[in-house]
Amino acid sequence: MKYTGRITLVFISMMVSFIESFTEPTTTWSILEAILFATIAALLGWVYDKAVYYKNKAEMNENRLCNLLRFSPEPIIVYQDGKIVFVNNKFEELVQLPSDKLLGTSIFHCILPEFHPMLKRRLKEMSQGKESLDRVELKIKTAHHNILDIEISSSPILFNEKPAVEVFLRDVTKRNKLEEELRKNEELYRFITENSTDLISFLNPNGYYEYLSPSSKDLLGFNKEEMIGSHLFDFLHPDEVEKVTTLLLEADSELEFAAFTHQIKKKNGSYIWIETNARTIRKNSRKLEGIVAVSRDITERLEKEKRLHEANIKLRYISNMDGLTGIPNRRYFDEKLAEEWNRMKRNSSPFSAIMIDIDFFKKFNDFNGHLAGDECLRQVATVLKNTVKRPSDFTARYGGEEFVILLPETDKQGAAHVAELLQTNVKNLNIPYISTETEPTVSISIGCATLIPNELTKPEDLIKLADTQLYIAKESRHNQFIFNQLSHLA
Ligand code: GH3
Ligand code: MG
Ligand code: MG
Repeated sequence: MKYTGRITLVFISMMVSFIESFTEPTTTWSILEAILFATIAALLGWVYDKAVYYKNKAEMNENRLCNLLRFSPEPIIVYQDGKIVFVNNKFEELVQLPSDKLLGTSIFHCILPEFHPMLKRRLKEMSQGKESLDRVELKIKTAHHNILDIEISSSPILFNEKPAVEVFLRDVTKRNKLEEELRKNEELYRFITENSTDLISFLNPNGYYEYLSPSSKDLLGFNKEEMIGSHLFDFLHPDEVEKVTTLLLEADSELEFAAFTHQIKKKNGSYIWIETNARTIRKNSRKLEGIVAVSRDITERLEKEKRLHEANIKLRYISNMDGLTGIPNRRYFDEKLAEEWNRMKRNSSPFSAIMIDIDFFKKFNDFNGHLAGDECLRQVATVLKNTVKRPSDFTARYGGEEFVILLPETDKQGAAHVAELLQTNVKNLNIPYISTETEPTVSISIGCATLIPNELTKPEDLIKLADTQLYIAKESRHNQFIFNQLSHLA
């Protein structure tokens, strides 16, 4: 009770005065003496009450402190005179040992040796009353031989009225592992970006460069510092601005990935073609945080593609053209025949074919030699090709001294007209035979055929028919020695 001391002593002093009043007569002096005695008793009682009050308070504080340490969410120990004198549950969990195995032992048992000197120094400073708020990291070994990274902070306290050090511990193993992983990843990404021949860049949502890999120097001639802070459009070819503006707008909403080729400016003012793969980086809220882009110089690739394309065209030309006469060959003819046949079939249009054979060409070769024969083939081919005028007319060397002409959308009369023209024009070449057994100059025999392609006929039918007409023309030539026989029976 708060007034126990005072009440007890005043009561005792009053009892003593009361008992005295039976033995001694009550005088003014004895009353004053009793009052003085009661006052002194009250004073002594007050001193006693205060002492009890402060003692209780100190005990309460100590209990409170003990509870605080015991129930702290972080591991805590109190170290005193080289021994652990207090551990909380969290510390027991941390080192995987119960408190009875810990109390009275040295803290150094569970700390790896390389950290002993540092910890000894620190504890010594603490015991000398020096406060330190610094956090230090060390490693401890648990009862199950796990090594943990621990961050500690300590401060001097009074424990059981004697100086001690309270040590707060925090398990930072996971945090350190994460940091280490992060650091490794960062190193890896830095290594990749710093050594990549591709240009790796990071743009903020407004299109300003925030990061560029050093390859900007090799690729564009700009140091990365010269580009960082500049806008993408400062380097884009003006023709690309519209396309990239659309992409940036789409990136702001939902676009995740884009791959496109475009031109970009070099420091020397010229432009190169690059291929860029860009990916958007978003926060959890899906808000655009930036764009990572990897760009590659494709000038060389485009040049190679162009060369390849040209080579393909050349190859296609070579594979389609007859080397001697320079007009389409049989392979190309077959392709064209099928193509035009289908077109005429769709349109139900007349389709004519003219088969041409040079007369007595064997003899021509025999008398004039093969080189002259080749030259003759060239001249005849040119005349045939130049005689037909429509863009869809098609002249090819069918083989040896035989030629074929396709005349789409041409009827019998049209084909007969062309055939006559062909014979006249070849005759007009005036290539002499130098043989008495033949005509004086080179002539051709012709077989014509016309069909309207339908479901029942095939392209080969047209050619067979023309060939038959040619054969008839040749026969009549052999009988009557007429070389310019025109046959158009179809
Ligand atoms: P016909 O009047 O009946 O058509 O008799 P021809 O001699 O013209 O026909 P034949 O089939 O008997 O002979 C064709 C000749 O064409 C044989 C061959 O020497 C010649 N010839 C074929 N291709 C070439 C070539 O590329 N160059 C040369 N110089 N001659 C060729
Ligand atoms: Mg022949
Ligand atoms: Mg012939």
